Amino acid sequence: MALDRPTPNDLRAFWMPFTANRQFKQAPRMLVEADGMFYTTSDGRQVLDGTAGLWCCNAGHKRPRIVEAIQKQASEMDYAPAFQMGHPKAFELANKLVDLAPEGIDHAFFTNSGSESVETALKIAIAYHRAKGDAGRTRLIGRERGYHGVNFGGISVGGIVNNRRHFGAMLAGVDHLPHTHIPENQWTKGQPEHGAYLADDLERMVALHGADTIAAVIVEPVAGSTGVLIPPKGYLQRLREIATKHGILLIFDEVITGFGRLGSPFGAQHFDVMPDMITCAKGLTNGVIPMGAVLTTAAIHDAFMQGPEHLIELFHGYTYSGNPIASAAALATLETYREDALFERCAEIAPYWEEAVHSLKDHRHVIDIRNMGLIGAVELEPIAGAPTQRAFAAFLKAYEKGVLIRTTGDIIAMSPPLIIEKAQIDQLIGTLGEVLDSLD
Ligand code: PMP
Repeated sequence: MALDRPTPNDLRAFWMPFTANRQFKQAPRMLVEADGMFYTTSDGRQVLDGTAGLWCCNAGHKRPRIVEAIQKQASEMDYAPAFQMGHPKAFELANKLVDLAPEGIDHAFFTNSGSESVETALKIAIAYHRAKGDAGRTRLIGRERGYHGVNFGGISVGGIVNNRRHFGAMLAGVDHLPHTHIPENQWTKGQPEHGAYLADDLERMVALHGADTIAAVIVEPVAGSTGVLIPPKGYLQRLREIATKHGILLIFDEVITGFGRLGSPFGAQHFDVMPDMITCAKGLTNGVIPMGAVLTTAAIHDAFMQGPEHLIELFHGYTYSGNPIASAAALATLETYREDALFERCAEIAPYWEEAVHSLKDHRHVIDIRNMGLIGAVELEPIAGAPTQRAFAAFLKAYEKGVLIRTTGDIIAMSPPLIIEKAQIDQLIGTLGEVLDSLD
């Protein structure tokens, strides 16, 4: 089916996010339909979705249960005020989410995105300590190469230079742990052996600032957006131990690792490390409608529930927190994951994925490969003086050849929907291999 492609003149008004706007508008890449594992482009081509949209469409596209749930909810009640009013689906969803989360996570606060989940978790962490009479604990600790969304708290605890340097002052009182991507771990399949000691830097920060100034440490169990950094064996456990020892909250940013991407509902279960809070979004609604959540322990929630009952406990929230249509989409999404046993499916197919991704080792320009669950990364040797260009050229060629990948710097990241078939893995990896060999 040939579909009309809008002319560049139609594209002027939209200032696109994280996009080279001028370049894009000269040769736009337009997606107009999506079904299962495939997008359809405006010129009628099928493109295999190797990235689950932006790490979010874990159940694949146009899932009937989700489509119907949205339509039904829109026709019953489109919106309800989020403050001092409720509606049943948000409560139902919160219960389902905490049931899915690790034992000990008991409450859910709703947001509209990963970025908002991060801001919410950071604010809850500081306010929690204050509620417990520990108002000096305001310092936040993130990690180099961490991605925690794009709002001011998130870019402050995040560790991506480009996301920070244009925007003036960051939050005060933020430190960063070293990232965990060390040369000893090159070509590792799954979790690397070396680097658990990198968590000990938290002890150094405690020694430097005093534990009684530190509210929380936030990390992604697997860092995705900065090129797929897999935690070394024992690293997350060590971080948990040190945080617990010093009364510091541990926040797992599971915006990517949540909802089955590692083969468990959350990364916390996969790595068997219990955080105090989990931030999530993306796969919560299969990417269909913006929604995020912060999941917390009872200890955190209950610290706020102490004052007079008629007073608001947490001065924070969004117009669309727990939005009815988003809640309906999320409930249908969780049901789809359950009905199709997609988290188990991810765990089952992950070994095949691992071998496929690592089969790219001998292709041109490849200097490292990493994987975990249904996540894979292929790192390319940058072109001297032109970083990012080789990987971006790979992205463009792959798209021409009918597969969607993502690039960050000179790293190609892949994270297909959890419904991917082996033949589609072969298509994705086979095409990428051809693309790599054709690059300058
Ligand atoms: N945290 C992590 C770990 C993420 O990967 C992302 C998005 N890639 C975010 C936060 C931000 O999410 P959003 O784009 O929905 O604000």
